[in-house]
Amino acid sequence: MNSPLNDIEIIFSRLRKQLPEKNGLLTSYPLETPDKNYSLGKFVLGEGNRRKALISAGIHGDEPGGVETICNFLENNRFERFSDEWELTFLPCINPHGYEYGTRENHEGKDLNRLFRQETPPPEVAFAKSILEKHYELTIELHEDFMSPGYYLYQQGTHQEDDHLGKKILQDVKDIMPINLNGEIDGRSAQAGIMVQESNFMSMDWWPMALYSLFKGARRCLTLETATKFPIDMRVEAHSAAINTALTCFSGEE
Ligand SMILES: [Zn+2]
Repeated sequence: MNSPLNDIEIIFSRLRKQLPEKNGLLTSYPLETPDKNYSLGKFVLGEGNRRKALISAGIHGDEPGGVETICNFLENNRFERFSDEWELTFLPCINPHGYEYGTRENHEGKDLNRLFRQETPPPEVAFAKSILEKHYELTIELHEDFMSPGYYLYQQGTHQEDDHLGKKILQDVKDIMPINLNGEIDGRSAQAGIMVQESNFMSMDWWPMALYSLFKGARRCLTLETATKFPIDMRVEAHSAAINTALTCFSGEE
């Protein structure tokens, strides 16, 4: 096997350094692979606050921008303005083996974001599914796309009146990174940077994490995609702006 490109422990130690002063704690769950034992991390900010969102990254190991965005969120005190209202649960890296080796798939060559409908999925997916046993009104997944000329997103939800959120996010992101305005992205229809979604997800034979979130009752699920061709700082800024807009503009609540 090739040697790793990244070290997940560096990410965890950056998080651990920031968390005490923000009343957060990094909990980790073991993930055993043949060559190394990893951990799957989780932390919560604003525990007990009324509104709840889940922010996750690194399910595709070759998309480091999301993992970096979560570190940056802590290191730049980006939570401060939301700390009275939101309880945010973070999964900073769902696929640590993929992160270390720069592969989309996990150590068994599985694309984890295709396996959320399986009853006995790989442990990384079982872990993410267990976190979704709790109810979140908003879920945000941070991804990246090697082929895309710009930022775009998927959004799905139970309330049509929340559809404006996608547009608002792209309005703010476009000052940082161009938006992918193609009519087709990744072989599917898109409109002004927003993917046109299948309406009947129950008939699909596989689910990504976002559709499992929706199935578990999340009101709005956002899958955000930066364009990997831009520098990492720009990708982090774009994702950070998107998170900021989502938490500010999502009026949600059941
Ligand atoms: Zn991805």
